[in-house]
Amino acid sequence: MTFYDLIIIGGGAAGQMAAISAKRNNPNLKIAILDRTFTLGRKILVCGAGRCNVTNIHLDKSIENHYYGANSEFVKSIFSQFSYKDIVNFFNDLGVELYVERKTDIGKLFPVTDQAKTITALLENELKILGIDTHLNTEVVKAIKGPDTFVLDANTLNQEGKAVTTNQFQSKYLIISAGGKTYPALGSNGSGYSLAQSFGHSIITPVPSALPIATKNPLSQELQGVKMELEVTSIIEGNEIKTRTDDVMFTQYGLSGPAILNISREISIHINRENKSNVQVKINFFPGKTANDVKDILGKRWNKRSTLTLEESLFGLFPTKIPAALLKVIGLDKNLPVNKLSEEQINLLVTSLTSYKVEIQATRGWNEAEFTAGGIDTKEVKESTLESKLVNGLYFCGEILDVDGDVGGFNLSWAWSSGNTAGKLKGSL
Ligand SMILES: Cc1cc2nc3c(=O)[nH]c(=O)nc-3n(C[C@H](O)[C@H](O)[C@H](O)COP(=O)(O)OP(=O)(O)OC[C@H]3O[C@@H](n4cnc5c(N)ncnc54)[C@H](O)[C@@H]3O)c2cc1C
Repeated sequence: MTFYDLIIIGGGAAGQMAAISAKRNNPNLKIAILDRTFTLGRKILVCGAGRCNVTNIHLDKSIENHYYGANSEFVKSIFSQFSYKDIVNFFNDLGVELYVERKTDIGKLFPVTDQAKTITALLENELKILGIDTHLNTEVVKAIKGPDTFVLDANTLNQEGKAVTTNQFQSKYLIISAGGKTYPALGSNGSGYSLAQSFGHSIITPVPSALPIATKNPLSQELQGVKMELEVTSIIEGNEIKTRTDDVMFTQYGLSGPAILNISREISIHINRENKSNVQVKINFFPGKTANDVKDILGKRWNKRSTLTLEESLFGLFPTKIPAALLKVIGLDKNLPVNKLSEEQINLLVTSLTSYKVEIQATRGWNEAEFTAGGIDTKEVKESTLESKLVNGLYFCGEILDVDGDVGGFNLSWAWSSGNTAGKLKGSL
């Protein structure tokens, strides 16, 4: 039996931050991170397509508009203790500058090296300097609270992920930061939920979020591989829910790209948690413009060059594959001269260009989702400390909690801030 003051289950972004925070705040504590994979922070490495979108410049401005699940007071309470500025200062102090990507106004921050590896390397340095033990390939399968301490059973896993031996660990305090369920190959496979449940905690059914969607629409079939900035709106049971403008990728199975990922949360909850259907996505090929605006735009083009065919007249507005494909699926002859279009045909075209609706059949799965919506019910967790309301000395942080944010650095921000707060062990020390 190995004894520690604090054990952290899961060494992702949240768990590593919790360990650093705990040791900086309480230098005398003997701390260990237990992680089921062969290295810490594997999910950090895939963040931002390997560049790691660490945080977002808009983080402090309107938390309630960027986070879901827990009520906004809960989330605000955590960010008030470790804010956007603190996250930036933390990484500057570790040794890397962050810069704001100016390509869009989303406000994403990346390390100046544009390498997620920089982030994991600097965190690892800090854990080493602080003397935090890490036990890799160590999967916690059981956790109980005795009279004074937590007792954990952990399997040592071989390269194939098979248990070879079982060890026991004991600790005064326990932080569970085992992540959600997405990309299970990178470590977080949902086993943290069972550990939390064994302490009596309730789980809001986790569903994959920020993921592509499957649709049976002829346009995706025609446009496989085409990417374009579009405005997309989720429509659930006839109500428009969320609109985002960003890149959309047409794929063989349906739709992907950041705009789709950003509207997928509510769609996934409706389909995967509530087992309902009747979901559509509306596509506007002219973001921010109405059908009348588009009628004007096209009218001007057609007056100037009235002998062009309908397809030719749309070149320059979209990637060249789009006009023929769209005209085909809405049943307009691409060779029609624009000066021969009827009012009815014009209306069909502008309506399709501004509100082309596709029926959603399903979301893609856990292996394609960036994060989890759902998790440990935050009603059972103290909002100032992240300590369990049910078990003294037990804390949670990161994606395992029922908190998820928008794409753009908000989920790592949650991991850093909640990790920092949980690590203080406020309430216990
Ligand atoms: C492809 C992709 C791209 C992303 N890009 C971004 C981005 O650019 N910006 C952003 O903000 N967010 C991004 N995210 C989301 C972000 O990565 C996560 O929200 C964040 O890393 C969660 O951190 P965490 O520490 O809570 O969980 P995780 O990183 O999942 O860490 C949990 C750890 O716990 C370990 N573990 C689980 N169960 C056990 C157990 N029983 N015993 C021992 N160890 C266990 C796992 O091995 C894992 O190391 C992305 C996610 C994906 C999948």
